[in-house]
Order: sequence, then C-alpha cells, then structure tokens
Amino acid sequence: MTELAAIITAEISENGPMPISQFMSTALFHPTLGYYTSRTVFGHSGDFVTAPEISQMFGELVGLALAQSWIDQGRPSPFQLVELGPGRGTLMSDLLRATKGVAGFHQAAQIILIEASPNLTQIQRSTLSGYDITWADSIHALQELPTFLIANEFFDALPIRQYQRIDDVWRERVIGLKDDALTIGLGGVAQSPYLLQRMSDTVDGDIVETCPQAAPLVDQIGTLIETKGGLGLIFDYGNWRSLGDTLQALRAHDHVSPLDHIGHADITAHVDFEALVQTCPARHTPMTDQGVWLERLGITARAQTLARALSGAALENHIHAHRRLTHPDEMGKLFKVIALYPSTAPYPVGFDT
Ligand code: SAH
Repeated sequence: MTELAAIITAEISENGPMPISQFMSTALFHPTLGYYTSRTVFGHSGDFVTAPEISQMFGELVGLALAQSWIDQGRPSPFQLVELGPGRGTLMSDLLRATKGVAGFHQAAQIILIEASPNLTQIQRSTLSGYDITWADSIHALQELPTFLIANEFFDALPIRQYQRIDDVWRERVIGLKDDALTIGLGGVAQSPYLLQRMSDTVDGDIVETCPQAAPLVDQIGTLIETKGGLGLIFDYGNWRSLGDTLQALRAHDHVSPLDHIGHADITAHVDFEALVQTCPARHTPMTDQGVWLERLGITARAQTLARALSGAALENHIHAHRRLTHPDEMGKLFKVIALYPSTAPYPVGFDT
C-alpha cells in the first residue's frame, strides 16, 4: 500500500466512505504525496503522453487558431493568453514560437498560466524562460480582458462523482473499506435536477458521472469571452454525454485500478462536453474530433514541410506522431475539441457551422 493509500484508508475508517471526487483530489493533489504535486515527469518516460508532447505541430496549430480569432476580432490589445494546466509548458512554448510572426500578437499578450502543482510550475518556468509570464493556481487571477484560452487534458483531471441507478433511484458510488482494503461501494440515495433528467436516457444499473467544478469554471471563462472577446479551445477525451464508469488510472502507459498505486498513477475521467458548456454564457461550436480539426487547420501541409528536414528514425517518428494525433484509431476520434466564442465575433476556424 502506498503512503497516500494508508492516509486515505485511515481517513475512511475514521469518517466513513468518501465520494470519488474527494478520493480523486487527494490522489492527484495531496500537498506532498499527490500525483501531480509529488511527481515531476510525464511524457515518454512517465505515465502518459499528451498531444503537445507527441509533436510540436499540435501547439503550433493551436497557436495559429488563437491568433486567427485574435485578428478576426480586431487585434484587441492588451489581451490575456491563458492556459489551464500547462503540464510541462510544451504547448505554450510551441504556440508562442508559431505566433512570433503574427504582427502585434506577442506585444498585446499578457500570458497567464493556471497551474495547481508547484512541481509542474517549476518545469514550466524552465521551458518558458525568456517570456514574461504570470502563474496562478486558480482562474480567479484572470483579468477583465479579452481572453484567448487553451486547455488540453485539463478537465479530465478535475474530480468527478459517480451515481448508479438502482431500482429507479440514484445512489452515489463511494470509496469505502472491505476487510481493511479500499473498495468502491454504494452510498445513500442522491437527488439533483441533473440526476432526474438522466432518468430519461438510462436503465437500471447504469452509471453516470458529474464533474462539479467543470461547469462553474467554464461559465466564468465564458462570461469573460462573451463580454470582453476572445476564444476558448478545450481539448480532451470524452463525449457529448457521459454514460458508464470512465474513471481510469494510468501508470507507465498501462491501465491500472484507480485504487492501486494511489499517488503514483494518473487518475482521470472522460469529459462530458454537454455538461461542460450547457450553462456557458458564450457561444460554443459543435464538439469536433481532434483529428478532423487538426486536418482542417492544415496539419498535413505542416507535417510535409517539417518532413523535408528529416530522415531515418526522426522521419519515422514524425510520420508516426502525425498519425497518432489524427488517425481515428489513435487519438483522432477519442479526443475532441470544442470552442467558446463571443456571439458578436466571426466563427472560429476548424469547426462546422
Ligand atoms: N496540458 C498539458 C498537461 C495535462 S495534465 C499537456 O497537454 O501536456 C493536467 C494538468 O492540469 C497538469 O499540469 C495539472 O497539474 C493541472 N491541473 C489539474 N487540476 C488542476 C486544477 N484544479 N487547477 C490547476 N491546474 C490543475
């Protein structure tokens, strides 16, 4: 049992079963033993690889999409360039390099990175040395400015709660103890307008998930985008409406039980895009496959240009990375993107109207 598993076990034996959300936030963000707070690496040598770590093309195209909306909205200056959960800082670094040639974009940008992990903040500082950047651990630090924002694999890390439909009531799935071992069981009857609504598209035994922090966060960002201008690009795995247990843990690129390796494995859940944008004051595009969006932004032309300078294993890796980001059997279909944009602004690039 990991040190963090022992702490969670002691907490449950004292106070009773805990919601999955509390388990997830402790596993990821315990001040000294949490996965994001205590571990410094992800990427090829870590537990999972994200799109910006696969290829520079991802951050470049995201940068050009943001810059295009900035131009379309009349080049507002100043504006805030925001990333939620920047990981190693790779996406922001590629984005900034790709937009260097966009006249006035860097001069107008106030860069704000929202990061809860002190360890990852350190890595971001070193990746992005040379840029003038403000770090904050929550979006309360955002200014009343036009807001151009990117979040990649951020919302999947926010704590979820799970409910199971049993005999036509919903009961919360909670983490408890059985013979001193952590186990998932059923708590009391739960009621909410959302759960009532989900009676219409579920059957007995089905599990649904909610992410209590997600919609309030998107609503705040959406308020800024709608009133001040800007664009929000949200990439993640998930679907329009969640059904079933999507809580998952990854360790060294393998799926493990979320109740094993606590603090040493990444724990995430699929993102429910409908719930994410349902109450957002800004407009939203249709949820679109990441592969389709990247193709529309011109990833193939960019890949061909980069390929000219490559040969041998580097060229093989580059071809593989392009495929991995876009192919429907790889990340192209599992990952989705949605954009938030002001009702008065031109439509963002890469989406169906
Ligand atoms: N966007 C990066 C990293 C994804 S991992 C990439 O694509 O490579 C998730 C990131 O979100 C990590 O940086 C993690 O520390 C951060 N994070 C998770 N929950 C957070 C929260 N509530 N507030 C701020 N940052 C958070």
